[in-house]
Amino acid sequence: MEDFVYLDNSSTTAPCKTAIKYINEALTTDWGNPSSLHSFGFNAERRITAARKAAAKMIGAREDEIYFTSCGTEGDNLAIISAARANKRKGNKIVTSSVEHPAVLNTVKRLCEEGFEAVYLKPDKSGKITKEQLTEAIDGKTILVSLMLVNNETGAIMPVSEIKAVAKLNNSPCLIHTDCVQAFGKMPIDVNRLGVDLLTVSGHKIHGPKGIGFQYIKKGVNIKPIITGGGQEKGMRSGTESVPLISGLFGAIEELPDIKTQLEKMRELRDYTQKRLAEELPIAVNSPEDALPYILNISLPGYRSETLLHFLEAQGVYVSSGSACAKGKGSFVLNEMGLCRERIDSALRISFSRYNTKDDAEKLVSALKSAADKLRKAN
Ligand code: PLP
Repeated sequence: MEDFVYLDNSSTTAPCKTAIKYINEALTTDWGNPSSLHSFGFNAERRITAARKAAAKMIGAREDEIYFTSCGTEGDNLAIISAARANKRKGNKIVTSSVEHPAVLNTVKRLCEEGFEAVYLKPDKSGKITKEQLTEAIDGKTILVSLMLVNNETGAIMPVSEIKAVAKLNNSPCLIHTDCVQAFGKMPIDVNRLGVDLLTVSGHKIHGPKGIGFQYIKKGVNIKPIITGGGQEKGMRSGTESVPLISGLFGAIEELPDIKTQLEKMRELRDYTQKRLAEELPIAVNSPEDALPYILNISLPGYRSETLLHFLEAQGVYVSSGSACAKGKGSFVLNEMGLCRERIDSALRISFSRYNTKDDAEKLVSALKSAADKLRKAN
């Protein structure tokens, strides 16, 4: 029995057994260079092929539409920079949201310094972007729309599947990208139903290793690589493939439980946690009701997030105050949602994995209650 409760799974997850096993095998036995024309190379290549097949199946794509990258951040960069450059002659407008991960926001910002123009859609109070906002923003000059499928701080699900029809109606030549880092492996994803051209995934949010991800690039979408070199990944991402990390990602995908069944379990756990917290503490809920249940963002007005975090950690309970990237700064996502300062400063993001139980929820409730009691007495 582990004596801690880890509820910060949107930051990263513990690598699962199969991921660790496959990484070990790739490091100890199949350590060849996949480009080598002998059995060491062949065995390494076989591992990559198996991983590519599994990744493609997860999102309803073809194997030749999957490109391994070093992480979600690299995938977002590849998709956004390459798509903007490829479509440059058709216009210069990029539509995105103001609550994307910095991997998207800072990449779009860089493109704006090169002359592109960006429109940032602001979420409503529940954290969501609407189809109407997309309809208003996407026009004939829009060459790229980048919208995350699930927000990493609130779990809000964004209307990615509406973009294609809106773009068609508004005569936009745009390519459609979605950052699926928080959604992959947690909700059913089908690239055709989503209608996207580019989709980004990271391995370490689904119990795989850090430093690996993959990019879906729809067949026929003609974009150029950012990293050039020996021509690996069909020239889209040069550099000798990290067979151990790709194998680890494969292990994580193999070990994923049935997505719909697990989603139901997470919904039950999230609802239970929310109900128990509300019974014991005056919380405000910042996640929308129909959020992906892997993330529950709450506030405990009157208490500072960082102080609560430290009290929780002292009791072996790990959550976060916002995204790992915010590192203690107030959440810009909650700010964009128009929440008041008190709600933002007291926010906690509780993020679940399949390893969490109702017992973990009870430990969280009792640790948070005791933190609030102590802090109230100290004031
Ligand atoms: N996009 C989202 C929505 C994320 O939550 C993260 C990581 O937190 C990333 C991108 C970046 O992924 P990586 O850590 O693999 O670079």
